[in-house]
Amino acid sequence: MTTLLTVQINGEEAMVAWGSRLGEALADGGTVFFHGDLGTGKTTLCRGVIHAFGHEGPVKSPTYTLVEPYNYRGVDIYHFDLYRLGDPEELEYIGFRDYFDGSSVCLVEWPEKGAGMLPTADLGIFVKYMDGGRQLRILSSGQRGEIILKKISETCIEVS
Ligand code: ADP
Ligand code: MG
Repeated sequence: MTTLLTVQINGEEAMVAWGSRLGEALADGGTVFFHGDLGTGKTTLCRGVIHAFGHEGPVKSPTYTLVEPYNYRGVDIYHFDLYRLGDPEELEYIGFRDYFDGSSVCLVEWPEKGAGMLPTADLGIFVKYMDGGRQLRILSSGQRGEIILKKISETCIEVS
């Protein structure tokens, strides 16, 4: 992980809006890992991303199904929540390799639970409680990650 961007986001609405910007930066696909305690806003960010592709309904947490697929504008979007994954090996049973095909958008909450099995993410987003809102630290990996992060940083205020 290389480049680092930090942003402070206060309120759910602003969180969804920031997620939408991230979604716009993911128009050509990409994998994003969302790290952070329960309730920090990972699913809220994913909702913004998925809305950016044209989805209008609610975005449910795929806690029990592990993955929820979407397809908009010809792009496959896979929203993972690995919180309840007992063993990373279980990912084999859902054929997870097929999801990370390079052209899809893969959003992964609780990637730590799939350690050793998941491919490297283009972006890692670390969310934590801060001053009543949330602080996001965004790290990129590789050239694709750099490009995605550059697109996002053109549209948001950097705080450090
Ligand atoms: P997670 O998926 O990390 O468990 P959620 O996305 O379900 O968390 O969000 C948990 C709660 O945090 C929701 O009630 C949501 O409205 C709130 N929330 C999300 N982002 C923010 C923010 N930036 N500031 C304040 N509250 C937020
Ligand atoms: Mg969640």
